[in-house]
Amino acid sequence: MVSARRVTTVVIGGGHAGLAMSRCLTERSIDHVVLERGEVANTWKTERWDSLRLLTPNWQSRLPGFGYDGGDPDGFRKMPETIDFICRYAEAISAPVETHTTVTSVRRTDAGYAVATDQGDWQCRTVVLASGACNIAHVPALAEGIPAHIAQVTPTQYRNPDQLAEGGVMVVGVAATGVQLAQEIHRSGRPVTISVGAHVRAPRSYRGRDIQWWMDRTGLMDERYDEIDDITRVRRLPSFQLTGSDNRNALDLNSLSSIGIKLIGRIAGMNDGKAQFSGSLRNMCALADLKMGRLLDTIDEWATENDLDGEVDPAERFAPTEIEGDPPLGMDLANGEIKTILWATGFRPDYSWLDVPVFDRKGRVRHDGGVVDSPGMYLMGMPFLRRRKSTLIDGAGDDARDLSARLAAYLDG
Ligand SMILES: Cc1cc2nc3c(=O)[nH]c(=O)nc-3n(C[C@H](O)[C@H](O)[C@H](O)COP(=O)(O)OP(=O)(O)OC[C@H]3O[C@@H](n4cnc5c(N)ncnc54)[C@H](O)[C@@H]3O)c2cc1C
Repeated sequence: MVSARRVTTVVIGGGHAGLAMSRCLTERSIDHVVLERGEVANTWKTERWDSLRLLTPNWQSRLPGFGYDGGDPDGFRKMPETIDFICRYAEAISAPVETHTTVTSVRRTDAGYAVATDQGDWQCRTVVLASGACNIAHVPALAEGIPAHIAQVTPTQYRNPDQLAEGGVMVVGVAATGVQLAQEIHRSGRPVTISVGAHVRAPRSYRGRDIQWWMDRTGLMDERYDEIDDITRVRRLPSFQLTGSDNRNALDLNSLSSIGIKLIGRIAGMNDGKAQFSGSLRNMCALADLKMGRLLDTIDEWATENDLDGEVDPAERFAPTEIEGDPPLGMDLANGEIKTILWATGFRPDYSWLDVPVFDRKGRVRHDGGVVDSPGMYLMGMPFLRRRKSTLIDGAGDDARDLSARLAAYLDG
């Protein structure tokens, strides 16, 4: 029998979050290994659609000791560039990554943790879970009632419209993924209907600057989890309705309906092959418009307080979301109009291999700003883990710095 290898820290996941943590552990001379089931940047290589571009500008991918060094800081990376960026980072920091090593179980021991993989076992004192927030595409239970002749696809399975049958497509969900895929599928010539739930509307550019520039400069991205009243609710908020493109156009419900995409309410139930839609469409849109207005008010106030009004374009407000006529409250899915349903209804992490009792009743890992409710265990890469930006590549640096300090203190203590 081969005995388990020993190391102080096992980092699970070779995405940017695991790598940022690796860099911070190296700075603290903490010996560690990064275990990755595929290759570095695996999710960007294997789970994203072909046309995806980052919705964060190039300058906004800052990792500890590494940043954008090209000539287009305001551009948006395509997938090959994103993969290249993360792989170059792994090389630059000489991250000790063991690729093609799937973690199959993590158990608590007297000395720390036993980490089992398909390439042998590890013993360690501390573990960092950096296995990603988006391992599983969430599909609501009512999907079971969708008639069998309709194909159902998730964003992790979707690559491009050629994969879909000819005919109508219903996209469910209007966060960044839903609006981007609805636009792409519409451009392929298929009629698209989009089911609208709660969403966060945001302009791509505001007062002549990218919205992410404002989010960064105003300090909104640095807002901390312990400054937020209802952090559980905020952690569940959908992503900004944004896309990264050369023309820097906004991608909101008005732009989708202007090209002929039909807006309907949130899909609320299935009954005998008939989909039922909530009557809340107008309210959902009004609420998103209102919240966008509040965000722009905050930006304007900050610009004035910081004497920026003379440097940037004047304040502006955008047309409210338009809903024409009476959107239908039901649709008979047996009528053949819809051939495919694409569930853009969010993502979930997968901790099926984590055999430590750290889950709340909803199956989420219990943690306080990434310090998991189990001694010596830390979490990276979750929405609003420690800051608003935690969910982004740009957020991993500060989180890894903070959490590696906590991990080092734990080892010392
Ligand atoms: C569609 C989409 C678009 C996004 N766009 C942007 C954007 O524009 N800008 C931005 O900043 N962020 C964006 N994000 C958010 C975020 O940057 C990504 O989710 C990012 O991949 C998260 O990085 P991570 O390192 O936490 O996780 P991941 O990149 O998912 O890395 C986790 C790694 O863990 C590995 N792993 C998982 N389970 C195991 C196991 N059991 N054993 C071993 N290895 C395992 C996986 O293979 C993976 O490589 C986007 C996310 C999605 C889903």
